[in-house]
Amino acid sequence: MSCDNSSDKEGKDSGSSSDEKIEECFICHKKFNINADDSSHYHYGKYPMCSYCSDFYGFYR
Ligand SMILES: [Zn+2]
Repeated sequence: MSCDNSSDKEGKDSGSSSDEKIEECFICHKKFNINADDSSHYHYGKYPMCSYCSDFYGFYR
């Protein structure tokens, strides 16, 4: 009788804990995950560049 179950759920209902951030490449306008473990990066720390363009143009961080 004295059981007071407070369902205190923390967190949002997005179960995925992956650190994914979708950006659009400023060269080819392809959508990609900039946090993927590849050559994708922010060119000049500002312009999202996909791994393909990074490899193709030879731009690395
Ligand atoms: Zn690209």
